[in-house]
Amino acid sequence: MKYALITGGSRGIGKAVCLKLSEMGFKVIINYLSNEGEAQKTLEEVRTAGGDGELLKFNVTDREACAAAIYEWQESHREDFIEVLVNNAGVRRDNLMLKMSEDDWDSVIGIHLGGFFNVTKPVLKQMLARRKGRIINMASLSGLKGVAGQCNYAAAKGGLISATRSLANEVGRKGITVNAVAPGYVRTDMTGDLNESELKKDIPLNRFGEAEEIAELVGFLASEKAGYITGECISINGGLYM
Ligand code: NAP
Repeated sequence: MKYALITGGSRGIGKAVCLKLSEMGFKVIINYLSNEGEAQKTLEEVRTAGGDGELLKFNVTDREACAAAIYEWQESHREDFIEVLVNNAGVRRDNLMLKMSEDDWDSVIGIHLGGFFNVTKPVLKQMLARRKGRIINMASLSGLKGVAGQCNYAAAKGGLISATRSLANEVGRKGITVNAVAPGYVRTDMTGDLNESELKKDIPLNRFGEAEEIAELVGFLASEKAGYITGECISINGGLYM
């Protein structure tokens, strides 16, 4: 059985990715932090669409909890392995530098960058043993161009893009590809507080993206067809660069 682990799979982009990968024939492991109801709903939608999966609750910032949950899963699935990992869990805690609290800095770096390390390391071990795998990291336009009020988020996403390239160099010869996806504005809970009608004026395609559109790109990178793409960061932002 092919398995895909999606961190932050309960809502937004992660949920759309769960549905897409399930449609492609993967059993999905839906990670979430606390929103059990939404995670359960995602699993039900996966099942209604003809797929299957399971929930795996852990905080991506908790190194020991990540390793324990993943190793426990591997123990109970001796014949299976996680072929696709989507590092997607994330939060925004925007503020201007002088007003940014230490907690806002630490938590955003911890979730996006620490989470990448904490989850990827235990999953990678098995990918290396099987000489097969796809790792897809959810970056952001912010990590490419920088955004006022997002020093923490941009630093985390920029770091994630660099880590993507480094890891791709490490594991390419072992049959594993590592890529990042950099969305612009996407309509999810995370952007619910933003004024779309104002912000869309700067977007050539004149709208926010949909989570399903990001999931299509993730699905492609997870597919056999993307076998010669690694170390890339692919933008998906409606033409918004400046
Ligand atoms: P969202 O709708 O707010 O969903 C966030 C998801 O992450 C939820 O499933 C949440 O779980 C999970 N999560 C948060 N902290 C976690 C933790 N410490 N451990 C485990 N899971 C955690 O966000 P989204 O808009 O879909 O964003 C998904 C990813 O895309 C993020 O990495 C974000 O930075 C990136 N992104 C988003 C946009 C955008 O415009 N939306 C643009 C560029 C990049 P619970 O449900 O349990 O809370």
